[in-house]
Amino acid sequence: MKITVIGFWGAYPEKGEATSCYLVEHNNMTVVIDCGSGAVSQLQNYIELKDVDAVVFSHYHADHQADLGVMQYARIVDKAIGRTSDSLLMYGHREDEAAFASLTKEPAVEGLPYNEGEALHLGEMTFTFSRTDHPVPCFAMRVEADGQSFVFTADTTYMDSLVEFSEGADLLIAETSFYADQDPTNFGHMNSTEAGRMARKAGVKQLVLTHLPHFGEHPDLVKEAKLEFDGTVELAATGKVIELKN
Ligand SMILES: [Zn+2]
Ligand SMILES: [Zn+2]
Repeated sequence: MKITVIGFWGAYPEKGEATSCYLVEHNNMTVVIDCGSGAVSQLQNYIELKDVDAVVFSHYHADHQADLGVMQYARIVDKAIGRTSDSLLMYGHREDEAAFASLTKEPAVEGLPYNEGEALHLGEMTFTFSRTDHPVPCFAMRVEADGQSFVFTADTTYMDSLVEFSEGADLLIAETSFYADQDPTNFGHMNSTEAGRMARKAGVKQLVLTHLPHFGEHPDLVKEAKLEFDGTVELAATGKVIELKN
């Protein structure tokens, strides 16, 4: 699997960048996880929009789905002028019916549900989902293919259930909205210490910190996470590529 960070900011995009969005490619299957603010513009640095097979949304907060509508328009245009005949599949949870309904845009985009505890197969990749602790329903996702795996925490406080869900993953992409000395729990987020702790307890190989804050010095987040976790710790960055291979 090849994972490209398209957007990594929490809340809003810094100029020229994007909020939550990750491109995942494996054997001719192209999946986008979250489609935050600025994501559609950034995606085109790496791929043609017509080649995206599916978008999977962790939850319906704006920093994770602001570009949903323009992604739909792109497929409507691409289908109408014959650049592709494929509809775009958009997956989301059903716990907000109005938001779920917005995933469908006839005749080019089909909204489909995912459910916790049920595997979703996209090409040769298998997605599974685990509920997080956040002000709105939100799901972390684990993606597996060819014996490799990664977990994206989406937005959440520190949870033991996510440690279990991330057990043994090759890569943990963990939201890190705050610094070690800040208490993130009331905001439904994690700090750098908790991201590191989750990586250590789950026994993952590699940790990437994402959903980064608009304050402080980001390298400090890495230093703080490393006090908990001995493996590789890196910051998400626009265009950063992580290849998981056997
Ligand atoms: Zn967020
Ligand atoms: Zn959120």
